[in-house]
Amino acid sequence: MQNQEVYDELVSKFEKMYGEKPQVVAYAPGRIEVLGNHTDYNEGYVFSAAIDKGTFFAVSPAADGTCELTAGDFMETAKFTTSTVAPAKEMTWQNYVTGTFNWLFDGNPASAKHGWKGMFLGNIPLGAGLSSSAALEMCTALALCRLYGIEKDKTALAKIGQKAEHTFAGCPCGLLDQASSMYGREGALVKSDFRTNSFETVSMGDGVAFMMVKSNAKHALVDGAYASRRQACEDAAKYFAGVLRKKVTHLRDVTMAEWVLYRGGLSETTAKRAAHPIGEDERVLQGAVLLEKGDLNGFGALMYDSHESSRNWFENSCEELDTIVDAAKAIPEVYGARLSGGGFGGSCCLLVDPSAAAKISAQIAKEYKAKHGDEPQISLIKPSEGAHIVAG
Ligand code: ADP
Ligand code: MG
Repeated sequence: MQNQEVYDELVSKFEKMYGEKPQVVAYAPGRIEVLGNHTDYNEGYVFSAAIDKGTFFAVSPAADGTCELTAGDFMETAKFTTSTVAPAKEMTWQNYVTGTFNWLFDGNPASAKHGWKGMFLGNIPLGAGLSSSAALEMCTALALCRLYGIEKDKTALAKIGQKAEHTFAGCPCGLLDQASSMYGREGALVKSDFRTNSFETVSMGDGVAFMMVKSNAKHALVDGAYASRRQACEDAAKYFAGVLRKKVTHLRDVTMAEWVLYRGGLSETTAKRAAHPIGEDERVLQGAVLLEKGDLNGFGALMYDSHESSRNWFENSCEELDTIVDAAKAIPEVYGARLSGGGFGGSCCLLVDPSAAAKISAQIAKEYKAKHGDEPQISLIKPSEGAHIVAG
């Protein structure tokens, strides 16, 4: 479904359900991670983009303190009041919205002057690594800010969404997803600095797009593998703090040249893990320079390097993701490809010439099917505008 159709369907369902037009409608997109993998918790850099799919949140004020929230695709409704906002164990989709409402009011939503009637609908595939959860939080945040006349900047709203995700949805995510949804711009990448929590956009130019290729890989022990990677990064940062004559709090502070000189003091595994975020930071900074020059081949080469680093150093790739990247490398219209997100399964992000999209997806699907028996889900994605108010 296109965004306009989603919007029309939402408004029509809202009117049927609540017998009035929504007072405010806000939109927020999903995101893709383009370069800079596992760098956020190392206080490093990430390139991401807002995608051309998203979620709309429509809302009107209630006369009293009651709140009604409907998931427009399931047509399920949760009812509560401004003084009973709490994480729910059933209809857990509501937690992204109620958590955002809760933290918009600093944990005291009972202080809101009135309740509301809300409904949301989107076209981002859920749980596919495109961050439908952050999109839901960010469209909720913008719509409720407008409804209540609350003024907050984009970073503050991103942090509120992140807090909702931590405390109501139980997912300890970084700030990347929410920030990308808020700061995205058409035809541009978002460059995030997770030391300063500052975000800027860098234009990509026309004639280029991304392709997300979702593997069907599901691997056990993902949580344990994720935790052990984080631990290795922390251990390595402590080690470098002891041997380098400069302040090191995170791997962000260590260069690849320093890693080469001092890695001997680390265990083989910890040294390998540390090489990944250190190298990724350097690739993002280098990538920004190449993008400014319009060097898509150069930028794409960094994406391939990023995947090699995942495959060999961080070991957060898997056979299915390697198949996709190896197949991409043989296609001239693909500039670059790498796994995107946590890894151990999930999706790859390809930088492509969109005029060859049909050929690229057919080739990748064919090679994937030959090796793994089923077909990956493939979608073409244009970097698009970030969250905004649509009506009201
Ligand atoms: P991702 O963010 O990668 O899509 P998550 O597991 O973090 O995956 O979030 C997906 C969850 O967010 C869904 O299971 C659902 O609870 C909620 N959600 C997000 N968008 C919607 C939507 N449009 N309709 C219903 N639920 C949604
Ligand atoms: Mg999510």
